[in-house]
Amino acid sequence: MHHIASLVTEQNEPVIVVLSALAGTTNALIEIGELIAKGDRQMAKQAIDKLEKHYQTFIRDLVKNKTIVAKAKAVIAEHFEFLNIILKISFSESLNKDILAQGELLSTKLFSLYLEEKEIDHVLLPALEFMSIDNYDEPQIGSIKVKLTQLIKAHKNSKLFITQGYICKNVRGEVDNLKRGGSDYSASLIAAAINASVCEIWTDIDGMHNNDPRIVKKTKPIEQLSFEEAAELAYFGAKILHPASIWPAQQYKVPVKLLNTMHPDAKGTTISEKAEGVGVKAVAAKDNIIAIRIKSSRMLLAYGFLRKIFEVFEKYRTPVDMVTTSEVAVSLTIDNAAQLKEIVKELEPFGTIEVDKNQVIISVVGAEISQTEAMVKKLFGSIMNIPVRMVSYGGSPHNISLLVPAEFKTQILQQLNKGMFGL
Ligand code: ASP
Ligand code: MG
Repeated sequence: MHHIASLVTEQNEPVIVVLSALAGTTNALIEIGELIAKGDRQMAKQAIDKLEKHYQTFIRDLVKNKTIVAKAKAVIAEHFEFLNIILKISFSESLNKDILAQGELLSTKLFSLYLEEKEIDHVLLPALEFMSIDNYDEPQIGSIKVKLTQLIKAHKNSKLFITQGYICKNVRGEVDNLKRGGSDYSASLIAAAINASVCEIWTDIDGMHNNDPRIVKKTKPIEQLSFEEAAELAYFGAKILHPASIWPAQQYKVPVKLLNTMHPDAKGTTISEKAEGVGVKAVAAKDNIIAIRIKSSRMLLAYGFLRKIFEVFEKYRTPVDMVTTSEVAVSLTIDNAAQLKEIVKELEPFGTIEVDKNQVIISVVGAEISQTEAMVKKLFGSIMNIPVRMVSYGGSPHNISLLVPAEFKTQILQQLNKGMFGL
């Protein structure tokens, strides 16, 4: 926070700072929610106390001025009192969302106090007053725009605004959220809503890399990506950016920069409308994929077969990622196993169903790659020893996806790094 305060005050233009929770907090809150849901109040109480201690230590380093320290203690007391009260009332899903919101409420209030101590002028904008989602959990960009503009207008002379990422209100007026990692999404929505000149996402790595740095030794940051390339990468595994955060920026033409708080001068990754140059930019892996194959001779020369199959996935609100078909079979993948049993049961009348769990999607991403013959040759040439279960080629000109068993993930990422990037 000390460091961020200097980063956000270096700018000449007015800034809206969207803060996530402190590292580990949302995970701890999820655990607390689960313990309360299970009725394990004693363990929940222990987890709440442990988190409270963490915050007490945190503010000791954060602020020094006596009045501000007292205010910070009051903030912590307020939010932990809330958690302790929740312990006594009966659990519900909407209450759980309130629990999850505490992380961002705490981080923004504490950051605001630190700015107060440094006598840095700023305004704390409550996200719950403008960030909202509809019946399908989709952000209501129109209303966000109207409300946020009004809030900002009320503070004409301010140049620095702080708000919470992740949290929002749903159609029932309850506290809700934009799902894990949702602060990126909040930032992109806000940038779109106010027509920002740029949306900067500050994390602790130098932008997107050409491969997964946790798995492959030598990786390099990617300087520039188009929105399309970034969307493919974010969705297919590059953990650095919430996948949904691409579309608001893309639609409202706000460039996105992925920057590193630890190396603020590093170039990071810029995501903008056009791709600079063709060719492979990156590979990424998406874990926990389930492949489903539906084999049926009735599919031969039939029409409407695919519609019937996809209706099943629609009914169980399960997104399908990859699809390949032959004349008598369809293979597709999902990453949400919550309704798998029901889905398989409803697919059974269509033919023989095979389910392969523990697969990963490996995506090779770059502008126009599927049009470059040499590239395709290089790609398959470098992974000849790996059993590929499915290939998706040509769906988008910027992506080739391969499905392989999870045990080959490390090997394929390494081989592609060598084969495609010479690293
Ligand atoms: N605090 C939330 C989470 O951990 C949102 C975020 O970090 O972007 O998922
Ligand atoms: Mg986060």
